[in-house]
Amino acid sequence: MSELNLVLLGPPGAGKGTQAERLVSDFGLPYYSTGIILREAVAEESELGKEAKEYMDNGELVPDDLISRAVKERFDSGEADNGFLLDGFPRTVGQAEVLEDILKQRGRDLTAVLLIEAPDDEVVRRLSGRRTCAKGNHVYHVEFDPPKHEGVCDQDGSRLIQRDDDKPETVRKRLAVYHDQTAPLIDWFDGKDVLMRFDGSRSPDEVHDLIRAKLAAKRFEDQDEQ
Ligand SMILES: [Zn+2]
Repeated sequence: MSELNLVLLGPPGAGKGTQAERLVSDFGLPYYSTGIILREAVAEESELGKEAKEYMDNGELVPDDLISRAVKERFDSGEADNGFLLDGFPRTVGQAEVLEDILKQRGRDLTAVLLIEAPDDEVVRRLSGRRTCAKGNHVYHVEFDPPKHEGVCDQDGSRLIQRDDDKPETVRKRLAVYHDQTAPLIDWFDGKDVLMRFDGSRSPDEVHDLIRAKLAAKRFEDQDEQ
């Protein structure tokens, strides 16, 4: 079986998390978000983990170089030999070039970059409708998954609040940052012929089916070339 080396891209609220869960369970891939990789390194108390912890404890961004070293460690651990799903890295063209080098040095390359897109207005509608339980972290949506009684958690009767992250003006700001950073990265991957675009305003099931179909087609292509 050929490797399945995947990168997941897309704005917040486009359904990346749901698709990631499904891909991981479909293909048994290790899932690497930047946060997870760094937390693992910290938990293992490796040299790298100790360095990363200092930045994290000080509330500073962990530098690219450290993140790419952490990614390398995961690749060399053997657990990603059949593939992986990266999320949140690379975030910039510079990081993408680093990833390309890391893979090349190991005789590998990316199978596909899965870009799940959604219009800004749709993202704002999805995220700003979220309400979170003040006590148990239970999540609702005023439109898609409302509680039985407005503003009250079904499970424990706590008050439902809108997190700062979900306020429309905050969502718009996050989207602006996302577009700024990611537009050049999308072009870069497109130029490498690995980009696959998906319409995240479709249902999660539809997006999932489309991803599987495109990946299967890509694998046939790759086999023909070999
Ligand atoms: Zn609750």
